[in-house]
Amino acid sequence: MIVILKENYDKEQLNSLEKWLKSMNLSMQISNGFHQTVLGLVGDTSGIDEDLIKALDIVEDVKRVQEPYKKANRKFHPKDTVVDVDGVKIGGGKFNIIAGPCSVESRQQLCLIAESVKKSGATLLRGGAFKPRTSPYSFQGMRADGIELLLEAKKLTGLPIVTEIMDLSQLPLFDDVDIIQVGARNMQNFELLKALGKTDKPILLKRGLSSTIDELLMSAEYIMSGGNSKVILCERGIRTFETATRNTLDLSCIPVLKERSHLPIIIDPSHSTGVARYVKPMALAAAAAGADGLIIEVHNDPPHALCDGVQSLTPDEFDDLVKRVRAIEPYAIKYGRES
Ligand code: PEP
Ligand code: MN
Repeated sequence: MIVILKENYDKEQLNSLEKWLKSMNLSMQISNGFHQTVLGLVGDTSGIDEDLIKALDIVEDVKRVQEPYKKANRKFHPKDTVVDVDGVKIGGGKFNIIAGPCSVESRQQLCLIAESVKKSGATLLRGGAFKPRTSPYSFQGMRADGIELLLEAKKLTGLPIVTEIMDLSQLPLFDDVDIIQVGARNMQNFELLKALGKTDKPILLKRGLSSTIDELLMSAEYIMSGGNSKVILCERGIRTFETATRNTLDLSCIPVLKERSHLPIIIDPSHSTGVARYVKPMALAAAAAGADGLIIEVHNDPPHALCDGVQSLTPDEFDDLVKRVRAIEPYAIKYGRES
C-alpha cells in the first residue's frame, strides 16, 4: 500500500501514524520527493482499511498495490486449483457440464432428467431443493425431500450432485451433497460463507447480481480463510441497464478471473440470459473463452416447469449443446497451469 502525504504535513501526526502501523505489524519506508512525500507500507496490508488512512489530515491519497485477497489470488498460488468432487475434477483444464432442472419437482421428473443429461455427457447433476424466489407465493422448493431425491438420482446415475443452501440452519441436510451452491443472492452472506469455510465441501459460489469481480473474489476469500480451499466460482449474469436478457452475461470475467485467481470458473448461461434459445450461443462462447465448465438448466417439460421453464433446455436441445461444446473444446483458450 502506498500513502501519499500532503505538502507540509504535520510531523507529529506522521509519528502517530507510524506508531499505529507498528501496532499492526507494518513498517513504512519514506521517500521524500521535491514536492511530495510518499510512504510505502511494508507487511501484510490485507487487514488495513485504506479509507481510515485516507481520512487522516496529513494524507493526500492511498493506493493499494496488492489485492486484499490472498488465498484466492493467483500471485500466491500460480497453479490452477483443481477441485475433486467425488472423482470428478473441476479446474485445471478439464471441462465439466453441470445440468439438471432449476428445481427438484418429483422423483419421476428428476430421475428422467438426470438419466438423460448423463447420457448426453453431463458430468454433474444440478437441482434446487431450496429455491430463492422473488415472490413468496412462488414455488419454494421441495426442501429436505428434494435433497433426498437428488441423492436417489445420484445413486441411479452416479452423477455427483449440486444444490443450493439458503441458510446456515440447513447445513446438516447437506452432509451427502457433493457441491454446495451459494446462490447469487447469498454471495455476501458473510456468516454463511464463514460457516462453509469450516466445512470440507466443494462450494459453487455464484456472483451476486450487482457484485464486482473483486467482490466475488473477496467472498471466495471468506470461505478460503476458514480453511476450505475447494471454491468454484460461477458467473451467472449481472444487472445492467439492458432488459432484452434476464441479466447480462459478463463473459469478460473469464480472462479477468483467470488472471487474478487460480480458482475454477463455471459459466451459467441459463440464469444470465433467461431465454432458452440464447443459452446455446452463450454456452459455446463461454467454452471458447476458457471457462472450466457450464451449469445448464434442463427440463423434460419446460412450459410446465415449476421454476425457470423459460430458460430451460429440453433434453434434446441439451444433447445438441453438449455435442457442439465438446467439438470446440480443443480450440478453447487455456490459462494457468495444472497443479
Ligand atoms: C439457481 O441456480 O437455480 C439459482 C437460483 O441461481 P442464482 O443464484 O444464480 O439466481
Ligand atoms: Mn433457476
